Amino acid sequence: MCSRCKRELPLEAFSRRRHYVSTSVRSACKECTAKSRQATPPPVSTPERRLKEAVRARTARAIAAGKLTVQPCVKCGGAGEAHHPDYTGPDAHLQVVWLCREHHMAEHVRSPWGRQMDLL
Ligand SMILES: [Zn+2]
Ligand SMILES: [Zn+2]
Ligand SMILES: [Zn+2]
Repeated sequence: MCSRCKRELPLEAFSRRRHYVSTSVRSACKECTAKSRQATPPPVSTPERRLKEAVRARTARAIAAGKLTVQPCVKCGGAGEAHHPDYTGPDAHLQVVWLCREHHMAEHVRSPWGRQMDLL
């Protein structure tokens, strides 16, 4: 039986047929799976996100123009990537802390920006 539409359906209606059979875990039929996929809203573009994207783009341009130099991680000396502690201010794109991926991740976990690694 489909866990969503509660219809008794042939096993062919389930994409994870083998899983369904072996575990007898209720799953949604292909139709419902497709529907729920469509219902998932696209990532929202908030003003905050747009600001961060703009700052990151300016940082990339500053690096390309030689105004900013990629530096090693300030904590361990590993390959650095630009972390922006603050996205506000006219030169926010130049206010960069260089951190390796590991330390960058750690910084985001405890920063108010959260685990948004798409927003460096
Ligand atoms: Zn269904
Ligand atoms: Zn590091
Ligand atoms: Zn960052």
